[in-house]
Amino acid sequence: MMQPIQNFFSQLYTPSKVVIVTHQKPDGDAMGSSLGLYHFLIQLSHQVTVISPTNWADFLNWIPACDKVLNFEQKQDVCKQIIAEADIIFCLDFNVLHRTKNVASVIENAKAKKILIDHHQEPQTEAFDFGISNTEKSSTCEMVYDFIVDSGNKQKINIDIATCLYTGTMTDTGSFRFPSATQSVHEMVAYFKSIGLQHTPIHEYIYDNFLEGRLRFIGFVLTNRMEVLYEYNTALMYVYKQDLQKYNIKTGDTEGLVNYLLTIEGIKLGALVIDRNEERKWSFRSKGNFNVNTFARLHFEGGGHANAAGGRTDESVDETVKRFKQILNQYEQILQ
Ligand code: 5GP
Ligand code: MN
Repeated sequence: MMQPIQNFFSQLYTPSKVVIVTHQKPDGDAMGSSLGLYHFLIQLSHQVTVISPTNWADFLNWIPACDKVLNFEQKQDVCKQIIAEADIIFCLDFNVLHRTKNVASVIENAKAKKILIDHHQEPQTEAFDFGISNTEKSSTCEMVYDFIVDSGNKQKINIDIATCLYTGTMTDTGSFRFPSATQSVHEMVAYFKSIGLQHTPIHEYIYDNFLEGRLRFIGFVLTNRMEVLYEYNTALMYVYKQDLQKYNIKTGDTEGLVNYLLTIEGIKLGALVIDRNEERKWSFRSKGNFNVNTFARLHFEGGGHANAAGGRTDESVDETVKRFKQILNQYEQILQ
């Protein structure tokens, strides 16, 4: 059974071999929380390695110490050995081990104590020794901030930590617009500002750092690959592999695309499916009481949060879009 994370605090001060691992295709929150924790733990003389199951978006590469993150797919043998020898494994920004793809079984078999810090629904608590799961939290970055503060180490927060933690809080709150951007979130940011954080460059690094092709790709998708199903207050986008190839779309270029759908007046559910190599990957966003976590779990082998979730399927793009539309029938009432 997963013990409260407070029970782990006393072990923070014994220098140990620590691994921090996050979900595949890490986003701003995954990378920011992992590296924020990294910059904290190295101050306590731990030997710390951050492992990502896969590659990540180029627009995250400026984050302090991002160059130290190991990509499991590129360095399997090294990563496996480091995980096997670890005393402590922090698992950040995911609720179930399979979100770490091929790293999952390596973590499962590791002798290390496993610690979860996450804000997704229905965590696999039996897989962890200590942890905290709080779906009310804006981001795992905010939870890492709480972890540092609650363990009595607020004075250890430096500019690197503040930069990392601001990044993921910003990306997971839609630049502080979602309801999850609470008073505590703004107080945390105020604290970061008080120690000298410059926030404007962070917004520019994340949001103003793409190539021309991405913008043209978005225009193409909005024009040619979008359907609005007004009878269900739903909008849908689907992207074929040849679309990604034509515009030379890389990891991260499609992030945020699904959000355009909810900018249409009255739309309550936005859904985007992208043809990835090994699977068709769904993203769902909703406004109000339509729970996309449940929806993704039930129909698309996925999950996430109430208003933002993802899923997957082995079906083709056309097949899965067809099934999506059929499924919508069941939700006609709630989407009105
Ligand atoms: P996105 O649409 O941005 O990829 O993901 C939205 C949210 O859903 C994120 O919090 C992400 O962690 C979660 N999510 C995305 N795909 C999956 C999935 O296949 N399974 C689960 N459990 N969560 C997912
Ligand atoms: Mn997150």
